[in-house]
Amino acid sequence: MFLERSINQADGIGWIEVICGSMFSGKTEELIRRVKRAKLAKQKIKIFKPKKDLRYDKKKVTSHDKNSIKSKPVSKPSKILKLSENFEVIGIDEAQFFDDSIVGVCNELANSGKRVIVAGLDMDYKGNPFGPMPNLMAIAEYVTKVHAVCSKSGKMASYTNRIVANEELILLGDTKKYQALSRKEFIKSNTLKKT
Ligand code: ADP
Ligand code: MG
Repeated sequence: MFLERSINQADGIGWIEVICGSMFSGKTEELIRRVKRAKLAKQKIKIFKPKKDLRYDKKKVTSHDKNSIKSKPVSKPSKILKLSENFEVIGIDEAQFFDDSIVGVCNELANSGKRVIVAGLDMDYKGNPFGPMPNLMAIAEYVTKVHAVCSKSGKMASYTNRIVANEELILLGDTKKYQALSRKEFIKSNTLKKT
């Protein structure tokens, strides 16, 4: 589906791909897979992530399967624009943590001929759309929703459930704090939390 050297790009115009889903759904793995293929096609690639998320490594984007690739942590989206000049393919992980200016930045990058691959959580732990993700999905040429395995039923999971009691919207964590759940199990567990 994604041609590493597309004819579109020859016009000096790029495009935006969004990879979204719950925690553990393989967003980072998919981002790494696409970027590695671009590397094989000898394209100049650069990956960014928000400075907020230094869970595994300061300088790498890392999947839950310990797949990793070098990345640059940035404090705000405008930095991505400045640092992308000499690259053809731009990867952005954990995009939900950036403010809304990430939307304009991605558009500007694509308009200037770059392939932009953005990964992020589509919903927060309450099941609400997360930060700039809905807008990014709207402006993207391609949107891929990946799914995790429900840790209760083994079925398809598209929700991220917080296991620990904390009401902050952003609480970085892993399997100790979050689990992937199907819609049915997510409803059950939220009903239990309220009782
Ligand atoms: P994301 O970036 O969407 O959080 P990752 O790409 O980091 O996801 O991790 C995906 C990997 O997480 C899978 O390949 C698998 O090894 C692991 N994993 C752990 N728990 C689950 C789960 N409940 N469902 C699917 N994969 C899981
Ligand atoms: Mg990830």
